[in-house]
Amino acid sequence: MKTALITGIRGQDGAYLAQLLLSKGYKVYGADRRSADGYSWRLEYLGIQDQVEIKYMDLLELPNVIDIIKELQPDEIYNLAAQSFVGVSFNQPLVTSQINAIGVLNLLEAIRHYSPESKFYQASTSEMFGGSTEVLNENSEFKPKSPYATAKLFAHNSVINYRESFDLFACCGILFNHESPLRGFEFVTRKITDGIARIKLGLADKLILGNLEAQRDWGYAPEYVNAMWLMLQQDKPDDFAIATNTTVSIKTFIDHVCAEAGCFLEWQGSGKDLSGIIDGKISIEISDKFYRPNDVEILKGDATKAHKILNWKPETFMPELVKIMYQADFERLSKQ
Ligand code: NDP
Ligand code: GDP
Repeated sequence: MKTALITGIRGQDGAYLAQLLLSKGYKVYGADRRSADGYSWRLEYLGIQDQVEIKYMDLLELPNVIDIIKELQPDEIYNLAAQSFVGVSFNQPLVTSQINAIGVLNLLEAIRHYSPESKFYQASTSEMFGGSTEVLNENSEFKPKSPYATAKLFAHNSVINYRESFDLFACCGILFNHESPLRGFEFVTRKITDGIARIKLGLADKLILGNLEAQRDWGYAPEYVNAMWLMLQQDKPDDFAIATNTTVSIKTFIDHVCAEAGCFLEWQGSGKDLSGIIDGKISIEISDKFYRPNDVEILKGDATKAHKILNWKPETFMPELVKIMYQADFERLSKQ
């Protein structure tokens, strides 16, 4: 039986990846930093909370990381743990850099010294590109625009250095945004599907957002974790961009959600004075609070290499993704 260790197992991707690996017969260990409630709502949602073995491991505690890696010597290690929210990274650059950059070095050192045969996956990100009207892939220039992205780029380069210097089987997946009903509520897609479902059900009357002009290449998370797994099944380690090759603005995403919800939406004004009128009432407003000091305006990815080498391609696009997310939120809130 193959063994895998997933850091960040309580996050969106960790939960879907655990489900995928269990379906393939892996013994799955989840590395989890201790939280006050210890509640894994995503693992419960997927019905797999009793099938994974949780090990307490904080990426910042090197002896703790070493102990776990030494004990398990897993066949595969997926590093999904991170301070994953770009917005917060501007206010918490130090902790973000500790976790997203130094935390990865801790793992690499532990693997190099105590489990060099383990295959390693690092969750790199399209945020490292900083945004461009060009279609972006593994060869595109990185121009990070946030503490989140600079720390992720440090980790990305470190993984490549360890692969070249110490012959580790280490891969980076440069994943563009991917969403699902398990996405964190602070991310814009989930905030919108949850917010519009609340307005529709009369549970809320306003949704307050930031920059609606930004564009993202949004895919479906369960398909993206499959790409992670495929990277570690190849004969040699490499880095891959994973994307849908489409891009949609936040404003258009809202249009799709309102269409799915059966709401009549009209926009008035522009920029920070924009508002959205849903079924005759001002329901969407803009606040400075949700603007970032520096934003990535547009991301569109090219996953041709992943298609050629991994035989991976996206299957869920807009507005199907919106339908999956909105229906899940609407059903959940209808039962409350
Ligand atoms: P989530 O925020 O849902 O999950 C991140 C997990 O990391 C959480 O479970 C969190 O634990 C854990 N974590 C944070 N700090 C530590 C630490 N010091 N030690 C151990 N665990 C820690 O992220 P996603 O699942 O969406 O993303 C997975 C990875 O992919 C992340 O690294 C993210 O940056 C990256 N990524 C995500 C993209 C996306 O669109 N989703 C796009 C590109 C990259 P806790 O539950 O206790 O908070
Ligand atoms: P990111 O691409 O990893 O930063 O994912 P997010 O979902 O956090 O943000 C995507 C884009 O939505 C960014 O350009 C944000 O500035 C923009 N955005 C606009 N309003 C909001 C909001 O209220 N919350 C969040 N999280 N993002 C917003």
